Amino acid sequence: MDREYRSPSRLRLDRSALLSNYRWLVEKSGNAACGAVVKADAYGLGAAAVVGHLAEAGCRDFFVATWGEARQVEPHLPENASLSVFHGVRAEDMEVALASRARPVLISAEQIARWKAAGGGPCDVMVDTGMNRLGLSLDGLDMGLFDGLEIDTLLSHLVLAEEDHPLNDVQPMLFAEIAGKVKAKRRSLSASAGICRGEKFLFDLTRPGIALYGGTPHPDCEAAIRQVVTPQVEILQRRTVCGGESVGYGATFVADRTMETATINIGYADGYARIFSNMGSALKEDVRLPVIGRVSMDLVTIDVTDCPSLKEGDWVDMDYDLAYMAMLSGLSQYELLTGLGKRFERYWA
Ligand SMILES: *Cc1c(COP(=O)(O)O)cnc(C)c1O
Repeated sequence: MDREYRSPSRLRLDRSALLSNYRWLVEKSGNAACGAVVKADAYGLGAAAVVGHLAEAGCRDFFVATWGEARQVEPHLPENASLSVFHGVRAEDMEVALASRARPVLISAEQIARWKAAGGGPCDVMVDTGMNRLGLSLDGLDMGLFDGLEIDTLLSHLVLAEEDHPLNDVQPMLFAEIAGKVKAKRRSLSASAGICRGEKFLFDLTRPGIALYGGTPHPDCEAAIRQVVTPQVEILQRRTVCGGESVGYGATFVADRTMETATINIGYADGYARIFSNMGSALKEDVRLPVIGRVSMDLVTIDVTDCPSLKEGDWVDMDYDLAYMAMLSGLSQYELLTGLGKRFERYWA
């Protein structure tokens, strides 16, 4: 895009909220170091900038999912920081992996053999303690597998740290048991929600994602974690809709009186889900401007009757309180963040 182009939609990213969330997670992590998960472009915020901000705040352990992501993040890592790749190494990743500073999180005997055969150097290892997703199964695990492996961090992942569940007794215990047998510099079990479950879940290193970015996966987060992301959208057109007329596809909204509406530059192609039709809202200062009619691909119409001065070219904020929007829609806070599309200009304030 040329230099003169200014997008009619942007994400306001609040640096002080990100840092405040990080500091809270550092404190909750106790004696464990607190890392940061920046996969999926830092949940849609932009990994390069997030890594920069968190590195300044002292974060030294970063996590991504794939080597494509590792390549994007690497140039932004401080000298003494570490980067781990959750999905380990496929055969076709080896060349990139061997040339990279990042460590693979090896997830299977096959990956371990591949890494050893290549003389790959420091690595991480994921063990499965109940998730049945990625990682070595503990059942019948051949401990000889680890001979000659230089393990930095041994990891496992919690199934349901958000709520009380019997697995929250089982998983830390199984993890501590296997960690006692495998030679690794550090042990890491908890993501955002696990950090809130206390001492027994912390081990040596934590790896939050969603809570850094304003998500609240555990009740403990709710008072402390601050919203980081606010979509801001320009008004394209103002109009007056008369009683009895409908708005948008499918005529799902019919005005019961004369009202003032504004059509704004956001839609489901930007990640503003169609389920927010007749349900979401924009905000102008403290005035709530309800979404009326269907969310379409690139456009949303809002009721601006209570804000008569709003006109074409003015900007409104979308209400994007993650907990509230998740409750409204049944979407997860993770989907609400990672779905936010490429048409938003991202800026830090
Ligand atoms: C995504 C991910 C995390 C971060 O989880 P949040 O719930 O966002 O804090 C941590 N560990 C692993 C293995 C992950 O895949």
